[in-house]
This record gives sequence, C-alpha cells and structure tokens, in this order.
Amino acid sequence: MQPERIKICDVPLDCVDMKSAVDHLNSVITGGNKCSVFAMNPEKVIFANKNNEIKSILSNAGLLIPDGIGVVLAAKLQGVKIKERVPGCELAVKLCELAEKNNYGVFLLGAKEETNLIASEKLIEKYPGLRISGRNNGYFTDEQNGEIVKKINDSGAHIVLVALGSPKQEKWIEKHQHEINANILQGVGGTLDVIAGNVKRAPSLWRVTHLEWLYRLLSQPQRIFRQTALPTFVWQVLTSKVRS
Ligand code: UDP
Repeated sequence: MQPERIKICDVPLDCVDMKSAVDHLNSVITGGNKCSVFAMNPEKVIFANKNNEIKSILSNAGLLIPDGIGVVLAAKLQGVKIKERVPGCELAVKLCELAEKNNYGVFLLGAKEETNLIASEKLIEKYPGLRISGRNNGYFTDEQNGEIVKKINDSGAHIVLVALGSPKQEKWIEKHQHEINANILQGVGGTLDVIAGNVKRAPSLWRVTHLEWLYRLLSQPQRIFRQTALPTFVWQVLTSKVRS
C-alpha cells in the first residue's frame, strides 16, 4: 500500500517511519515493481520551490522520506503525526540488512573510487551475507551513462544506492530509472562517505535532540550556504499555517 502523501510548503512528503518505509520497499521488490526514493529536508523543500525540474522529479518519486526534523515538525503543525525521522543514510543501511536477509543484490553507485570500495567492504563486514552485486564510483561522464546502466542491469541488482549528491542524483535517477531493471533506486547523498568513515555522523546526543543538522553545519562550515534555506523554510511553514 502506498504511504500517505502530504505537502509541506507545496512540496510532497510521505508519512513513513523506518519500519513502514522498509516494509513498503520490500513489498515493491517482492511485487516486482519499481520505486525511486529521495530524502526530504527543509533545504530540499526550499530548493524545489525555486526549481521546477526538481519539484517535478520529487512529485513523480516513489517514496519521499522525512529525513530532516524540520519536515517532521512542519507535518505536525498540519496535524499530521510522523512517528520519527527516517534519515536517508540509516534507510540505506537498513536496505542492506534487508538485502542480506533476502539475498537481494545491492549496487553502490557514487562517491570517489576509494570511498566506494571501502564502503562496500564495511557493509560486507557488517552484513557478511550481503551480496554487493556491483559498484562504480560517481565520477563518470554523460557519455558513460549507457555503460553504467548496463553495468547495473548486468549485475542483477535489486537495490541501487545512488550517491552523487543532490540534486545530481535526483536528476540522474529520473533520467535513467526507466532503463534500469533494479526495483529500488535510492538517492543517498554522502552516505557512502559516512559508511566508509570519511565523514562522521553526529554523536547520538545531537541526534536525539534533533540537532544533527547543526552538528553537520559546525563540522562542515562550507555548507552554510545550503543551511540559509532554514529561516526561509520556517517562514514559509508558519505563513502557510496562518493562511490555512
Ligand atoms: N559525488 C559523486 N559524483 C559527483 C559529485 C559528487 O559521486 O559528480 C559524490 C561525492 O563524492 C559525495 C556525494 O556525492 O560522496 C555528495 O555528498 P554530500 O554530502 O554533498 O551529499 P548531499 O548533501 O548533496 O546529498
């Protein structure tokens, strides 16, 4: 069953928690269907409202997970309860756990070659039965897209984790999903860097207090320009609440 879809500042979001997201994606695979998965946070909502191409890609997506606490709180303000955040990097790892249990093939697409390789080794270390059916770094030209699609299809992967950064991965998935046989294409941003250990996730105190975004900003100050979307997001959420 398709999860309930709401709109945050006119941008779609699916009301899922981690378990229902994984169950839904498993049923997509067992049913032989296809689903693209993207992480939603305030930054992406604001970006989508400035960029029609991204807004349309998100509207056509299979599953839009509540990756950021901002979208969970904005949903709450509309009277919609979302049980928890579903961070994209945690969902990607849960999908690897699901893949190990069910012998689904996983393809890792993206990040630097060394990062991609180490991430695949770390995932196998964590899930010894996991079948990484193929992998490719994220530094290829448009002319090589056909080769990459063939490599994914030849690998027989059920799940492709696409780590090209946003919005590149959203555009890549939208463009190629029709020619890729895998069931699940998840845009995972910097997840392979986190799995490989190049980028540290926030310690758990920051996560439980919903301040992971602040930790990330402090540890990667170059992201400040992306975080300037936050005040705009708060303003848009509050004004749309007042209007309604
Ligand atoms: N990346 C890539 N190919 C590119 C550009 C970026 O594979 O042409 C990778 C990059 O190496 C990194 C990830 O995409 O692993 C982007 O991570 P980031 O944390 O910036 O993701 P975002 O926050 O944009 O989702």
